[in-house]
Order: sequence, then structure tokens, then C-alpha cells
Amino acid sequence: MGTEPLIKRPCECKVLIVDDEDVICEVLKTALAPHFNTTVCNSGKDATALIDQHCFDVIVTDLKLPDILGTEILAYAKSRDEFVEVIIITGYATLDSATDALNLGAVSYLSKPFAISDFLFQVEKAIASRIFHLKSLHLMQKSDMLEPGVKEHIYDITALYYFTRKLMMSLEISEIMKVVLDEANQRTGAAFCVVGVDLQGYQEIYVSPSYGELDEKSIRTQLTRSWDKCFSYLSEQEFVSEKIPLHIHRGRQGEKQAAIDKELQSVSVPMIVAGKTIGSISVFKNEIESKGHSQFMYVFTSLVSSVVEHAYSDMVARFEAKTDSLTGVGNHRFFHETLEREIARANRRNSSFSLVLLDIDNFKIINDTYGHQVGDAVIIDLTRRLSSSIRCADILARYGGEEFCLILPEGEEQGSQILVERICQKISEQPFTCASATFNYSASFGLAVYRGDKPISKDALIEKADKAMYASKRKGKSQVTVCC
Ligand code: GH3
Ligand code: MG
Ligand code: MG
Repeated sequence: MGTEPLIKRPCECKVLIVDDEDVICEVLKTALAPHFNTTVCNSGKDATALIDQHCFDVIVTDLKLPDILGTEILAYAKSRDEFVEVIIITGYATLDSATDALNLGAVSYLSKPFAISDFLFQVEKAIASRIFHLKSLHLMQKSDMLEPGVKEHIYDITALYYFTRKLMMSLEISEIMKVVLDEANQRTGAAFCVVGVDLQGYQEIYVSPSYGELDEKSIRTQLTRSWDKCFSYLSEQEFVSEKIPLHIHRGRQGEKQAAIDKELQSVSVPMIVAGKTIGSISVFKNEIESKGHSQFMYVFTSLVSSVVEHAYSDMVARFEAKTDSLTGVGNHRFFHETLEREIARANRRNSSFSLVLLDIDNFKIINDTYGHQVGDAVIIDLTRRLSSSIRCADILARYGGEEFCLILPEGEEQGSQILVERICQKISEQPFTCASATFNYSASFGLAVYRGDKPISKDALIEKADKAMYASKRKGKSQVTVCC
């Protein structure tokens, strides 16, 4: 942090604005200059040179510059002063780029166009956070109450504070894993780090090397060598037979790493929540130096454990909110969300897809004759028959009651019709058997095609498929009608 004073007033704070458009630089500088010591530049090259010379408190950078990405400026600035606050601005906002930037430690994210008052508010917030932070560091460094040993760890504690802030940015387990692995690699200088997770229905292993890419074979060899020490809660056999998914992330920029032949040493700490082991974090290195790393790993792992558990509970809740409990396929909500996505995709790509609605014929009679439990079993049976007849990319959901829907992406209209006719025939031909009865049942289908070059609303598309399905019913059931 150089020789800059730790106690500053806002007007003494230095802000750097990086944007390749002069007009934007000028507007932003005009907004900030009355309040802060403001510098502007137009390129990554100038920005890095300025960051080398000055100690900026806040950096505002465009995401896409001609010679560099804003996230690279962010990484560079953080490598010089890990407590600098960085705000990313862009005209190409996507959720992915926003979460990337936040995961890398950006304090906030603004998409152009934005109101200058919002911009000023974000910068003021970043400055306040920076001042608070510097003041805390100052107080901790000066305090006689602190043990000398604790003072030494102030930067570690502050870094952990920043890490937890990053950790809170996402609820996606895979994004959380990336943040965790990057941090563990950076703090311990490991060859690679591993997070194993063992939650109900969710056993996975996430790996990231410190730099570049590491081949899967090396990683598998190292993991099996240390299996009992690191992952005793997971079945080694299931890992070897690839039943436990292994996700390998890329490390920081750099060349592809050579295979690691010799046996690395490892430190592994269990993730424990409410007395239950939910996984572990393991670090693989050439040599494990000191107690320091294990101590860091314990604090680090205890922070991560509850966040992983929380993200998992959230994932389960989201999954359940979109899953039909009787059949396990997507429910009505899932269907609508998926259909919206497919429509947007077809519009973007000018492509087409088919929507199929189907309804079991005479289902009331089945219920009345055999009872509701058998009716339920027929619904489950139909789900199985449909799932096994469609392709990977096709989507099946329960629309409600005894009605289902299929979304067949990118399919030719004729191809989709042939597929659906085959399914319709197969359903009516194969008898349904359960403990109390054997009988045949059938379903009626309606198919409507969505064309990206002739967009219609989601409701209009559903209505077309619905009308086609009722046409099948009117014509005698157990058949497919295509709505042109
Ligand atoms: P159609 O051939 O015209 O489709 O006649 P249908 O008898 O299949 O149609 P109708 O809509 O009259 O009856 C559907 C019945 O499905 C009524 C409802 O009680 C029953 N049902 C809806 N959901 C479930 C379910 O989850 N389980 C069971 N067993 N029955 C259900
Ligand atoms: Mg029916
Ligand atoms: Mg019905």
C-alpha cells in the first residue's frame, strides 16, 4: 500500500477512470472532479502505468477496452493493492460478465447508459468503503491492545474479509467453487486445490490448478493417491468409475501445465456444518511447509462450509420449485421459463423449434375404473415412456394433471412430427401393467412450430399446440395433429 496515509478524507481520495471513449471520460470526470482527485486515461497501457505510479483508492474501468479487458485492469490493480475498490462499467452487460467481475472482487457493476447520480452514488459508496477499510487497518496497526502476533495477521484478516465479501456474491455452487479454489491457491501457493462435496444427492469434486490448465489424468492420479486422507467420506470406487463428477476449472492465466508425475503432499480440512461433514478442502503442494498453512486452511474452510451448505439448500429449493413431485420432470413453472428461453433463442438465431402438448385419453375412466393410485402410476409410466423416447436436447415437462409438453429444439417440422407419431404409436401399443391390472392407454398430441423469423407470443404458441391437441381428440384420440 506504499507510503500513502491510511487516514484520508474523501476529497483526498484518488479515482482513476479508464474508458476508450473521450466523451465518457469527460462526463465522468466532470461528475467526480468536484469531489475527488480524479485522473482519466483511455487505454489499458496507460491505466497500468498510472496504477504503477499512483496509489488510487477507486478505479472505474470500462469492461471492453481496445488493448485490455476491464477485468484484467481489476486483477492488475488488486495485485498491486488488494484493497483498492474497482467499479466496472460496460455497454455489453450480461449476467455472466457481471458475476465474473464481482467474483474477481469488483465492488459494483454499472451498465451503460446509467444516470450520473447513480454513478456518483456508486463511487461515493466505494470511497466510503475504502476509507472505512484504511481506517480499520490504521487503528489495528496502531492499537497497543493488539498482540504483536495479531498485528502480523491484520492483512490476512482483511483479505479474509474481502474473500467472504466475494463469496457472498453468488448462490451458484460452481461459481462459489471457483472463488474458493482461486483464493485457496493464491493463499497457499498450491499446485492445485480440491473441494469435495458430499450433500444428499450431490457428490461432486471441484479442482483448480494455480496457473493454466492441468490434465485430468494427473489430477486423478494425485487424488486417488491421497484418497483416504482427503475424501474418506466419498466412495473411491465411484470416483474411479467416474460416477462422482469431477469438475476441473482453469487456473489463472498461463500456459498449460505439464503433468505432475511425482506424488504431491496434501493438507485436507473437513467442511463441517452442524456437526455433519459435508465435504473437504484439500491443497496439493510439492511440500507442505508449516503449521501456518493448516491454520489458514481451518479458518478458510470454516468460512466456506456454511456458504456451500447455504448454496446447496438454495439449489434444492430452486430445483423443487421447478420440479413436479409425482414424476420428477419439470413442472408448469419450469415449462413456461424454458419456453420463454427457447423463444428468445429462436428469435436470436432465426431458428425454429416444435412445441408438443399431449393429454392422456379417457383418463377419468382409468381413475374411475382402477382408482387414483393406478391413475398416478399411469402418469409416471407415461413420463418414463416419453423420457426414453426423446433426444437429450428435447425437454419434457408436466403441464398439469394428465397433460404434458415437449419442446423439441432446432428440429425440422417433419422430423419432429415423425418422432411424435412414433411416440404416440408406442404408447398405445405397449400395455401398462401394475400389481392390480393390465390395460392399454393412449394419448392425443398437438404440435405447433415456432419460427424465429415469424415471432409470435408464448401464449399464442401454446394456444396453437392446444388447439392441435384438441383437434386430435375430436378426430378420435390417440393421434398427432400439426398446426401450421
Ligand atoms: P380426454 O380423453 O378428453 O382427455 O378425457 P379425460 O377423461 O382424460 O379428461 P378429463 O379432463 O375429463 O379428466 C382428467 C382427469 O384427470 C380428471 C382428474 O381428476 C384427473 N387427474 C388430474 N391430475 C391427476 C393426478 O395427478 N393423478 C390422478 N390419478 N388423476 C389426475
Ligand atoms: Mg385427458
Ligand atoms: Mg386433460
